[in-house]
Amino acid sequence: MTRLVGAIDQGTTSTRFVIFDERGSIITYHQMEFEQHYPHPGWVEHDPYDLLATVECCVEQAVRKLEATGKYHATDIVSVGITNQRETTIAWDSETGKPLYPAIVWSDGRTAATVKQLAEKSKNGVNALQGICGLPLTTYFSAVKLRWMLDHVPVVKEALDKGRLHFSTVDSWLIYNLTGGLNRGVLVTDVTNASRTMLMNIHTLQWSDEAVSFFGFQGLQLAKIVSSSQVYGNIANGILEGVPIAGCLGDQQAALVGQKCFNVGEAKNTYGTGCFMLFNTGSEPVLSKNGLLTTVAYQLGSEKPVYALEGSIAVAGSSIQWLRDNMAIISEAKEINDLASQVEDTAGVYFVTAFTGLFAPYWRDDARGTICGITQYTNRNHIARATLEAACYQSKAILDAMNRESGKPLKSLKVDGGMSNSDLAMQIQSDILGIQVDRPAMRETTALGSAVAAGLAVGVWKGVHDLDKVNTENRSLFTSKITEEKREQLYAGWKKAVERSFGWAKD
Ligand code: ADP
Repeated sequence: MTRLVGAIDQGTTSTRFVIFDERGSIITYHQMEFEQHYPHPGWVEHDPYDLLATVECCVEQAVRKLEATGKYHATDIVSVGITNQRETTIAWDSETGKPLYPAIVWSDGRTAATVKQLAEKSKNGVNALQGICGLPLTTYFSAVKLRWMLDHVPVVKEALDKGRLHFSTVDSWLIYNLTGGLNRGVLVTDVTNASRTMLMNIHTLQWSDEAVSFFGFQGLQLAKIVSSSQVYGNIANGILEGVPIAGCLGDQQAALVGQKCFNVGEAKNTYGTGCFMLFNTGSEPVLSKNGLLTTVAYQLGSEKPVYALEGSIAVAGSSIQWLRDNMAIISEAKEINDLASQVEDTAGVYFVTAFTGLFAPYWRDDARGTICGITQYTNRNHIARATLEAACYQSKAILDAMNRESGKPLKSLKVDGGMSNSDLAMQIQSDILGIQVDRPAMRETTALGSAVAAGLAVGVWKGVHDLDKVNTENRSLFTSKITEEKREQLYAGWKKAVERSFGWAKD
Protein backbone atom coordinates (compact mmCIF):
# COMPACT_ATOMS: atom_id res chain seq x y z
CA MET A 1 0.00 0.00 0.00
CA THR A 2 1.39 3.41 -0.99
CA ARG A 3 1.40 5.90 1.82
CA LEU A 4 2.30 9.50 1.02
CA VAL A 5 2.41 12.48 3.34
CA GLY A 6 1.73 16.08 2.29
CA ALA A 7 3.37 19.16 3.77
CA ILE A 8 1.97 22.67 3.62
CA ASP A 9 4.96 25.02 3.91
CA GLN A 10 3.63 28.55 4.36
CA GLY A 11 6.87 30.61 4.27
CA THR A 12 7.61 34.32 4.36
CA THR A 13 7.89 34.86 0.62
CA SER A 14 6.22 31.78 -0.82
CA THR A 15 3.88 28.90 -0.08
CA ARG A 16 4.52 25.29 -1.09
CA PHE A 17 2.69 21.99 -0.91
CA VAL A 18 5.17 19.13 -1.06
CA ILE A 19 4.23 15.45 -1.29
CA PHE A 20 6.70 12.96 0.21
CA ASP A 21 6.98 9.19 0.13
CA GLU A 22 8.04 7.03 3.08
CA ARG A 23 11.75 7.57 2.31
CA GLY A 24 11.34 11.33 2.48
CA SER A 25 11.73 11.70 -1.28
CA ILE A 26 9.68 14.38 -3.01
CA ILE A 27 7.10 12.92 -5.39
CA THR A 28 5.86 16.31 -6.54
CA TYR A 29 5.17 19.84 -5.28
CA HIS A 30 3.67 23.17 -6.19
CA GLN A 31 4.96 26.58 -5.10
CA MET A 32 3.57 30.13 -5.33
CA GLU A 33 4.95 33.49 -4.32
CA PHE A 34 2.57 36.04 -2.81
CA GLU A 35 2.63 39.79 -2.38
CA GLN A 36 4.76 41.46 0.26
CA HIS A 37 3.40 44.80 1.50
CA TYR A 38 5.85 47.45 2.71
CA PRO A 39 3.58 50.39 3.66
CA HIS A 40 6.38 52.30 5.45
CA PRO A 41 10.15 51.81 5.83
CA GLY A 42 10.71 48.88 8.19
CA TRP A 43 7.09 47.66 8.00
CA VAL A 44 6.23 44.28 6.44
CA GLU A 45 2.65 42.99 6.06
CA HIS A 46 0.85 40.04 4.47
CA ASP A 47 -2.82 39.64 3.63
CA PRO A 48 -4.02 36.64 5.71
CA TYR A 49 -6.31 35.65 2.81
CA ASP A 50 -3.31 35.54 0.43
CA LEU A 51 -1.67 33.06 2.79
CA LEU A 52 -4.80 30.89 2.82
CA ALA A 53 -5.47 31.20 -0.93
CA THR A 54 -1.91 30.21 -1.87
CA VAL A 55 -2.12 27.20 0.46
CA GLU A 56 -5.40 26.05 -1.11
CA CYS A 57 -4.07 26.60 -4.63
CA CYS A 58 -0.75 24.81 -3.96
CA VAL A 59 -2.58 21.79 -2.48
CA GLU A 60 -4.89 21.60 -5.49
CA GLN A 61 -2.10 22.01 -8.08
CA ALA A 62 0.33 19.59 -6.41
CA VAL A 63 -2.34 16.89 -6.08
CA ARG A 64 -3.23 17.35 -9.75
CA LYS A 65 0.45 16.85 -10.62
CA LEU A 66 0.44 13.75 -8.41
CA GLU A 67 -2.55 12.30 -10.25
CA ALA A 68 -0.92 13.19 -13.60
CA THR A 69 1.97 10.81 -12.83
CA GLY A 70 -0.50 7.99 -13.40
CA LYS A 71 1.24 6.14 -10.57
CA TYR A 72 -0.29 7.82 -7.53
CA HIS A 73 -3.69 9.06 -6.41
CA ALA A 74 -4.93 11.75 -4.05
CA THR A 75 -6.14 8.94 -1.78
CA ASP A 76 -2.52 7.81 -1.26
CA ILE A 77 -2.02 10.93 0.91
CA VAL A 78 -2.72 9.67 4.42
CA SER A 79 -1.99 12.84 6.38
CA VAL A 80 -0.93 16.45 6.00
CA GLY A 81 1.51 18.48 8.09
CA ILE A 82 1.77 22.25 8.34
CA THR A 83 4.86 24.36 8.79
CA ASN A 84 4.73 28.13 8.75
CA GLN A 85 6.46 31.46 9.06
CA ARG A 86 6.58 32.03 12.82
CA GLU A 87 5.63 35.05 14.97
CA THR A 88 3.65 36.68 12.15
CA THR A 89 0.57 37.99 13.91
CA ILE A 90 -3.08 37.90 12.86
CA ALA A 91 -5.89 39.46 14.88
CA TRP A 92 -9.38 38.36 13.94
CA ASP A 93 -12.95 38.82 15.08
CA SER A 94 -14.09 35.57 16.66
CA GLU A 95 -17.71 36.18 15.65
CA THR A 96 -17.01 36.65 11.94
CA GLY A 97 -13.72 34.74 11.58
CA LYS A 98 -12.40 37.74 9.61
CA PRO A 99 -9.06 39.48 10.16
CA LEU A 100 -9.22 42.99 11.60
CA TYR A 101 -5.87 44.15 10.25
CA PRO A 102 -3.17 42.84 7.88
CA ALA A 103 -0.84 40.20 9.30
CA ILE A 104 2.22 41.91 10.81
CA VAL A 105 5.18 39.87 9.60
CA TRP A 106 7.91 38.60 11.96
CA SER A 107 10.60 40.81 10.44
CA ASP A 108 8.52 44.01 10.77
CA GLY A 109 10.34 46.58 12.90
CA ARG A 110 7.49 49.06 13.67
CA THR A 111 7.25 48.10 17.33
CA ALA A 112 10.55 49.60 18.58
CA ALA A 113 8.70 52.19 20.73
CA THR A 114 6.28 49.51 22.03
CA VAL A 115 9.28 47.44 23.13
CA LYS A 116 10.70 50.43 25.00
CA GLN A 117 7.42 51.10 26.83
CA LEU A 118 7.00 47.45 27.78
CA ALA A 119 10.59 47.11 29.00
CA GLU A 120 10.12 50.14 31.25
CA LYS A 121 7.38 48.27 33.13
CA SER A 122 9.85 45.77 34.62
CA LYS A 123 13.03 46.03 36.67
CA ASN A 124 14.39 43.31 34.40
CA GLY A 125 13.90 45.50 31.33
CA VAL A 126 13.75 43.51 28.09
CA ASN A 127 14.18 40.30 30.09
CA ALA A 128 10.91 40.93 31.95
CA LEU A 129 9.41 37.62 30.82
CA GLN A 130 12.51 35.53 30.06
CA GLY A 131 11.84 33.17 32.98
CA ILE A 132 8.34 32.42 31.68
CA CYS A 133 8.72 32.35 27.91
CA GLY A 134 12.50 32.17 27.30
CA LEU A 135 12.44 35.27 25.10
CA PRO A 136 13.50 38.92 25.41
CA LEU A 137 11.16 41.78 24.56
CA THR A 138 12.01 42.72 20.97
CA THR A 139 10.16 43.81 17.85
CA TYR A 140 10.23 40.17 16.74
CA PHE A 141 7.62 38.35 18.84
CA SER A 142 3.87 38.19 18.33
CA ALA A 143 2.62 39.65 21.63
CA VAL A 144 4.57 42.87 21.00
CA LYS A 145 2.98 43.14 17.54
CA LEU A 146 -0.50 42.57 19.00
CA ARG A 147 0.16 45.25 21.65
CA TRP A 148 1.02 47.64 18.80
CA MET A 149 -2.27 46.79 17.05
CA LEU A 150 -4.23 47.46 20.24
CA ASP A 151 -2.50 50.83 20.63
CA HIS A 152 -2.88 51.93 16.98
CA VAL A 153 -5.85 50.17 15.39
CA PRO A 154 -9.20 51.12 17.02
CA VAL A 155 -11.17 48.13 15.63
CA VAL A 156 -8.72 45.73 17.25
CA LYS A 157 -9.05 47.49 20.62
CA GLU A 158 -12.85 47.52 20.25
CA ALA A 159 -12.87 43.77 19.58
CA LEU A 160 -10.84 43.15 22.75
CA ASP A 161 -13.20 45.34 24.79
CA LYS A 162 -16.15 43.34 23.47
CA GLY A 163 -14.44 39.99 24.17
CA ARG A 164 -14.34 39.18 20.43
CA LEU A 165 -10.62 39.48 19.72
CA HIS A 166 -8.94 36.27 18.63
CA PHE A 167 -5.17 36.28 18.34
CA SER A 168 -3.33 33.80 16.20
CA THR A 169 -0.14 32.88 14.48
CA VAL A 170 -0.20 31.59 10.89
CA ASP A 171 -0.48 27.87 11.81
CA SER A 172 -3.65 28.47 13.75
CA TRP A 173 -5.19 30.68 11.03
CA LEU A 174 -4.57 27.98 8.42
CA ILE A 175 -5.77 25.01 10.51
CA TYR A 176 -8.92 26.92 11.50
CA ASN A 177 -9.80 27.74 7.91
CA LEU A 178 -8.75 24.42 6.37
CA THR A 179 -10.90 22.51 8.85
CA GLY A 180 -14.02 24.53 7.98
CA GLY A 181 -13.56 28.07 9.34
CA LEU A 182 -16.37 29.89 11.10
CA ASN A 183 -18.40 27.71 13.49
CA ARG A 184 -16.62 24.53 12.33
CA GLY A 185 -12.88 25.17 12.28
CA VAL A 186 -10.52 23.71 14.89
CA LEU A 187 -8.85 26.36 17.05
CA VAL A 188 -5.42 25.01 17.93
CA THR A 189 -1.78 26.11 17.83
CA ASP A 190 1.19 23.82 18.31
CA VAL A 191 3.71 24.24 21.13
CA THR A 192 6.48 25.45 18.83
CA ASN A 193 4.40 28.26 17.39
CA ALA A 194 2.99 29.14 20.80
CA SER A 195 6.53 29.34 22.17
CA ARG A 196 7.18 32.34 19.84
CA THR A 197 4.30 34.48 21.08
CA MET A 198 5.77 35.42 24.51
CA LEU A 199 2.43 34.30 25.98
CA MET A 200 3.21 30.62 26.64
CA ASN A 201 4.96 29.33 29.74
CA ILE A 202 7.65 27.11 28.20
CA HIS A 203 7.81 24.94 31.34
CA THR A 204 4.08 24.10 31.58
CA LEU A 205 3.29 24.54 27.85
CA GLN A 206 0.16 26.51 28.82
CA TRP A 207 -0.78 30.15 28.24
CA SER A 208 0.66 32.24 31.05
CA ASP A 209 -1.80 34.52 32.88
CA GLU A 210 1.15 36.61 34.03
CA ALA A 211 2.37 37.19 30.47
CA VAL A 212 -1.18 37.87 29.23
CA SER A 213 -1.70 40.55 31.88
CA PHE A 214 1.82 42.00 31.39
CA PHE A 215 0.79 42.86 27.82
CA GLY A 216 -2.68 44.03 28.89
CA PHE A 217 -4.44 41.26 26.96
CA GLN A 218 -7.07 40.26 29.54
CA GLY A 219 -10.11 38.88 27.71
CA LEU A 220 -8.14 37.85 24.62
CA GLN A 221 -9.24 34.61 22.94
CA LEU A 222 -6.42 32.15 22.43
CA ALA A 223 -6.28 28.81 20.62
CA LYS A 224 -5.74 25.57 22.51
CA ILE A 225 -2.06 24.58 22.70
CA VAL A 226 -1.44 21.11 21.28
CA SER A 227 1.57 18.90 20.49
CA SER A 228 3.41 19.06 17.15
CA SER A 229 2.29 15.58 16.12
CA GLN A 230 -1.31 14.44 16.56
CA VAL A 231 -4.52 14.54 14.53
CA TYR A 232 -5.99 18.04 14.94
CA GLY A 233 -8.90 17.69 12.50
CA ASN A 234 -9.73 16.83 8.89
CA ILE A 235 -9.52 19.03 5.82
CA ALA A 236 -13.08 20.22 5.19
CA ASN A 237 -13.10 21.03 1.48
CA GLY A 238 -11.31 20.57 -1.82
CA ILE A 239 -9.22 17.86 -3.38
CA LEU A 240 -7.98 16.47 -0.02
CA GLU A 241 -11.34 16.63 1.80
CA GLY A 242 -11.34 14.29 4.79
CA VAL A 243 -7.53 13.92 5.06
CA PRO A 244 -6.31 14.52 8.62
CA ILE A 245 -4.04 17.45 9.47
CA ALA A 246 -1.70 15.69 11.89
CA GLY A 247 1.53 17.66 12.21
CA CYS A 248 2.38 21.28 12.92
CA LEU A 249 5.69 23.01 13.59
CA GLY A 250 7.03 26.54 13.16
CA ASP A 251 9.32 26.58 10.13
CA GLN A 252 12.64 26.56 12.00
CA GLN A 253 11.60 23.81 14.37
CA ALA A 254 10.34 21.85 11.36
CA ALA A 255 13.77 22.16 9.73
CA LEU A 256 15.37 20.83 12.93
CA VAL A 257 13.06 17.80 12.75
CA GLY A 258 13.58 17.47 8.97
CA GLN A 259 17.35 17.46 9.56
CA LYS A 260 16.75 14.75 12.19
CA CYS A 261 18.56 16.69 14.95
CA PHE A 262 16.92 14.50 17.61
CA ASN A 263 19.95 14.26 19.91
CA VAL A 264 21.19 16.79 22.45
CA GLY A 265 24.03 18.84 20.94
CA GLU A 266 22.91 18.56 17.29
CA ALA A 267 22.28 21.78 15.39
CA LYS A 268 21.03 23.07 12.05
CA ASN A 269 21.16 26.42 10.29
CA THR A 270 18.50 27.42 7.74
CA TYR A 271 19.37 30.20 5.27
CA GLY A 272 15.99 31.37 3.94
CA THR A 273 14.61 34.92 3.96
CA GLY A 274 16.23 35.17 7.39
CA CYS A 275 18.67 32.68 8.89
CA PHE A 276 18.01 30.59 11.98
CA MET A 277 20.31 28.29 13.91
CA LEU A 278 18.70 25.86 16.34
CA PHE A 279 20.63 23.72 18.80
CA ASN A 280 18.89 20.76 20.51
CA THR A 281 19.25 21.08 24.32
CA GLY A 282 17.05 18.08 25.23
CA SER A 283 14.25 17.87 27.76
CA GLU A 284 15.21 20.96 29.79
CA PRO A 285 14.96 24.57 28.60
CA VAL A 286 18.31 26.41 28.87
CA LEU A 287 18.01 30.15 29.55
CA SER A 288 20.64 32.08 27.61
CA LYS A 289 22.99 34.72 28.98
CA ASN A 290 24.38 35.45 25.52
CA GLY A 291 21.45 36.77 23.50
CA LEU A 292 20.03 33.43 22.35
CA LEU A 293 16.38 32.46 22.54
CA THR A 294 14.97 29.50 24.44
CA THR A 295 12.30 27.78 22.45
CA VAL A 296 10.33 24.55 22.21
CA ALA A 297 11.92 22.42 19.46
CA TYR A 298 9.09 19.88 19.14
CA GLN A 299 6.71 17.71 21.09
CA LEU A 300 5.70 14.43 19.49
CA GLY A 301 2.24 13.41 20.71
CA SER A 302 2.17 12.75 24.43
CA GLU A 303 5.98 12.54 24.71
CA LYS A 304 7.94 15.10 26.72
CA PRO A 305 8.79 18.30 24.86
CA VAL A 306 12.31 18.83 23.51
CA TYR A 307 13.85 22.32 23.76
CA ALA A 308 16.34 24.27 21.66
CA LEU A 309 18.51 27.33 21.87
CA GLU A 310 18.02 29.54 18.85
CA GLY A 311 19.98 32.27 17.16
CA SER A 312 17.85 34.28 14.73
CA ILE A 313 19.14 36.51 11.93
CA ALA A 314 16.50 38.77 10.38
CA VAL A 315 18.10 39.23 6.97
CA ALA A 316 19.84 36.52 4.93
CA GLY A 317 18.30 35.53 1.54
CA SER A 318 16.30 38.78 1.59
CA SER A 319 19.57 40.74 1.17
CA ILE A 320 20.11 38.80 -2.07
CA GLN A 321 16.59 39.78 -3.15
CA TRP A 322 17.52 43.37 -2.31
CA LEU A 323 20.55 43.12 -4.62
CA ARG A 324 18.17 41.78 -7.28
CA ASP A 325 15.13 44.05 -6.83
CA ASN A 326 16.52 47.32 -5.46
CA MET A 327 20.10 47.41 -6.76
CA ALA A 328 19.61 45.39 -9.98
CA ILE A 329 23.07 43.83 -9.51
CA ILE A 330 21.64 40.41 -10.38
CA SER A 331 18.46 39.31 -12.12
CA GLU A 332 18.01 36.00 -10.25
CA ALA A 333 19.05 35.00 -6.73
CA LYS A 334 21.13 32.07 -7.93
CA GLU A 335 23.39 34.38 -9.98
CA ILE A 336 25.00 35.61 -6.78
CA ASN A 337 27.10 32.46 -6.51
CA ASP A 338 28.91 33.07 -9.82
CA LEU A 339 29.13 36.81 -9.36
CA ALA A 340 30.72 36.50 -5.93
CA SER A 341 33.00 33.64 -7.08
CA GLN A 342 34.77 35.96 -9.51
CA VAL A 343 36.78 37.49 -6.65
CA GLU A 344 38.94 35.72 -4.07
CA ASP A 345 37.69 37.93 -1.23
CA THR A 346 35.73 41.13 -0.61
CA ALA A 347 38.90 43.28 -0.68
CA GLY A 348 38.13 44.48 2.83
CA VAL A 349 34.43 45.24 2.32
CA TYR A 350 31.88 44.24 5.00
CA PHE A 351 28.13 44.52 4.55
CA VAL A 352 26.11 44.50 7.77
CA THR A 353 22.63 43.74 6.41
CA ALA A 354 20.77 45.26 9.38
CA PHE A 355 17.76 46.43 7.33
CA THR A 356 15.35 46.22 10.28
CA GLY A 357 17.92 46.20 13.09
CA LEU A 358 20.08 43.28 14.19
CA PHE A 359 18.71 40.17 15.87
CA ALA A 360 20.79 37.55 17.71
CA PRO A 361 23.09 37.83 19.45
CA TYR A 362 23.18 41.65 19.19
CA TRP A 363 19.46 42.60 19.54
CA ARG A 364 19.89 46.19 18.35
CA ASP A 365 16.75 47.66 16.81
CA ASP A 366 18.66 50.93 16.23
CA ALA A 367 21.05 49.27 13.73
CA ARG A 368 20.63 49.79 9.99
CA GLY A 369 22.32 48.39 6.88
CA THR A 370 25.96 49.48 6.64
CA ILE A 371 28.65 48.84 4.03
CA CYS A 372 32.20 49.51 5.25
CA GLY A 373 35.64 49.46 3.65
CA ILE A 374 34.69 50.63 0.16
CA THR A 375 37.51 51.90 -2.07
CA GLN A 376 37.71 52.93 -5.75
CA TYR A 377 38.68 49.27 -6.38
CA THR A 378 35.40 47.87 -4.97
CA ASN A 379 33.03 46.44 -7.56
CA ARG A 380 29.76 44.50 -7.60
CA ASN A 381 31.59 41.19 -7.19
CA HIS A 382 32.93 42.35 -3.83
CA ILE A 383 29.52 43.63 -2.73
CA ALA A 384 27.92 40.32 -3.79
CA ARG A 385 30.49 38.37 -1.82
CA ALA A 386 30.12 40.62 1.23
CA THR A 387 26.35 40.01 1.07
CA LEU A 388 26.85 36.24 1.31
CA GLU A 389 29.41 36.71 4.07
CA ALA A 390 27.03 38.78 6.23
CA ALA A 391 24.80 35.80 7.10
CA CYS A 392 27.92 33.67 7.66
CA TYR A 393 29.52 36.13 10.11
CA GLN A 394 26.28 36.51 12.05
CA SER A 395 26.05 32.72 12.17
CA LYS A 396 29.55 32.68 13.68
CA ALA A 397 28.52 35.18 16.37
CA ILE A 398 25.56 32.93 17.18
CA LEU A 399 27.53 29.69 17.17
CA ASP A 400 30.18 31.22 19.46
CA ALA A 401 27.37 32.08 21.90
CA MET A 402 25.90 28.56 21.62
CA ASN A 403 29.29 26.96 22.23
CA ARG A 404 29.74 29.13 25.33
CA GLU A 405 26.28 28.22 26.56
CA SER A 406 26.56 24.45 25.95
CA GLY A 407 30.24 24.05 26.90
CA LYS A 408 30.60 21.49 24.09
CA PRO A 409 31.71 23.04 20.79
CA LEU A 410 29.77 21.95 17.73
CA LYS A 411 31.78 19.90 15.21
CA SER A 412 29.42 19.80 12.25
CA LEU A 413 26.56 22.09 11.22
CA LYS A 414 23.64 20.80 9.14
CA VAL A 415 22.39 23.40 6.68
CA ASP A 416 19.43 24.03 4.38
CA GLY A 417 17.26 26.87 2.97
CA GLY A 418 17.39 28.79 -0.32
CA MET A 419 20.78 30.44 0.24
CA SER A 420 22.41 27.09 1.10
CA ASN A 421 22.08 26.31 -2.62
CA SER A 422 25.13 28.53 -3.12
CA ASP A 423 28.23 26.32 -2.82
CA LEU A 424 30.31 29.44 -2.33
CA ALA A 425 28.17 30.62 0.60
CA MET A 426 28.52 27.23 2.28
CA GLN A 427 32.31 27.17 1.69
CA ILE A 428 32.55 30.68 3.18
CA GLN A 429 30.46 29.47 6.12
CA SER A 430 32.81 26.58 6.80
CA ASP A 431 35.83 28.90 6.48
CA ILE A 432 34.36 31.43 8.90
CA LEU A 433 33.22 28.82 11.46
CA GLY A 434 36.21 26.50 11.14
CA ILE A 435 33.92 23.43 11.29
CA GLN A 436 32.30 21.10 8.80
CA VAL A 437 29.14 22.23 7.03
CA ASP A 438 26.84 19.34 6.06
CA ARG A 439 24.18 19.89 3.36
CA PRO A 440 21.59 17.28 2.32
CA ALA A 441 20.76 16.74 -1.37
CA MET A 442 17.04 17.17 -0.66
CA ARG A 443 16.87 20.60 0.97
CA GLU A 444 13.11 20.90 1.57
CA THR A 445 13.82 19.96 5.18
CA THR A 446 11.27 22.40 6.57
CA ALA A 447 8.47 20.70 4.64
CA LEU A 448 9.96 17.30 5.44
CA GLY A 449 9.91 18.07 9.18
CA SER A 450 6.19 18.77 9.17
CA ALA A 451 5.58 15.69 7.00
CA VAL A 452 7.54 13.63 9.54
CA ALA A 453 5.36 14.99 12.37
CA ALA A 454 2.19 14.25 10.36
CA GLY A 455 3.43 10.78 9.35
CA LEU A 456 4.42 9.85 12.91
CA ALA A 457 0.93 10.76 14.15
CA VAL A 458 -0.79 8.30 11.79
CA GLY A 459 1.79 5.49 11.90
CA VAL A 460 3.62 6.01 8.57
CA TRP A 461 6.75 5.88 10.73
CA LYS A 462 6.72 4.12 14.11
CA GLY A 463 9.02 6.59 15.88
CA VAL A 464 12.11 8.71 15.21
CA HIS A 465 14.21 5.50 15.15
CA ASP A 466 12.22 4.55 12.05
CA LEU A 467 13.57 7.54 10.09
CA ASP A 468 17.07 6.18 9.41
CA LYS A 469 16.50 5.89 5.68
CA VAL A 470 14.78 9.26 5.38
CA ASN A 471 16.85 11.87 3.50
CA THR A 472 20.31 10.42 4.18
CA GLU A 473 21.73 10.05 0.67
CA ASN A 474 24.12 12.30 -1.27
CA ARG A 475 25.06 14.88 1.33
CA SER A 476 27.65 17.57 0.47
CA LEU A 477 30.33 18.29 3.06
CA PHE A 478 32.28 21.57 3.16
CA THR A 479 35.47 21.92 5.23
CA SER A 480 37.44 25.04 6.06
CA LYS A 481 40.23 26.05 3.69
CA ILE A 482 41.64 28.98 5.68
CA THR A 483 43.93 29.21 8.73
CA GLU A 484 42.78 30.05 12.23
CA GLU A 485 44.80 33.27 12.06
CA LYS A 486 43.05 34.37 8.84
CA ARG A 487 39.67 33.45 10.35
CA GLU A 488 40.28 35.64 13.39
CA GLN A 489 41.52 38.53 11.29
CA LEU A 490 38.43 38.44 9.06
CA TYR A 491 36.06 38.17 12.02
CA ALA A 492 37.72 41.12 13.80
CA GLY A 493 36.78 43.26 10.77
CA TRP A 494 33.17 42.07 10.98
CA LYS A 495 32.95 43.05 14.66
CA LYS A 496 34.17 46.56 13.80
CA ALA A 497 31.62 46.83 10.99
CA VAL A 498 28.79 45.77 13.34
CA GLU A 499 29.74 48.58 15.76
CA ARG A 500 29.38 51.07 12.89
CA SER A 501 25.85 49.87 12.10
CA PHE A 502 24.44 50.92 15.50
CA GLY A 503 22.43 54.09 16.07
CA TRP A 504 21.14 54.83 12.56
CA ALA A 505 17.44 54.14 13.08
CA LYS A 506 15.17 57.17 13.38
CA ASP A 507 12.63 57.04 16.20
P1 ADP B 1 11.64 31.16 2.93
O1 ADP B 1 11.24 29.77 3.32
O2 ADP B 1 12.08 32.03 4.07
O3 ADP B 1 10.65 31.85 2.04
P2 ADP B 1 13.67 29.90 1.17
O4 ADP B 1 14.33 28.83 1.95
O5 ADP B 1 12.76 29.53 0.06
O6 ADP B 1 13.01 31.01 2.10
O7 ADP B 1 14.86 30.77 0.58
C1 ADP B 1 14.59 31.89 -0.20
C2 ADP B 1 15.79 32.82 -0.17
O8 ADP B 1 16.95 32.12 -0.64
C3 ADP B 1 15.58 34.00 -1.07
O9 ADP B 1 15.62 35.15 -0.25
C4 ADP B 1 16.72 33.97 -2.07
O10 ADP B 1 17.36 35.22 -2.12
C5 ADP B 1 17.68 32.91 -1.56
N1 ADP B 1 18.14 32.00 -2.63
C6 ADP B 1 17.39 31.20 -3.39
N2 ADP B 1 18.16 30.49 -4.25
C7 ADP B 1 19.44 30.89 -4.03
C8 ADP B 1 20.72 30.53 -4.57
N3 ADP B 1 20.84 29.63 -5.54
N4 ADP B 1 21.81 31.12 -4.05
C9 ADP B 1 21.70 32.03 -3.06
N5 ADP B 1 20.53 32.40 -2.51
C10 ADP B 1 19.41 31.85 -2.98
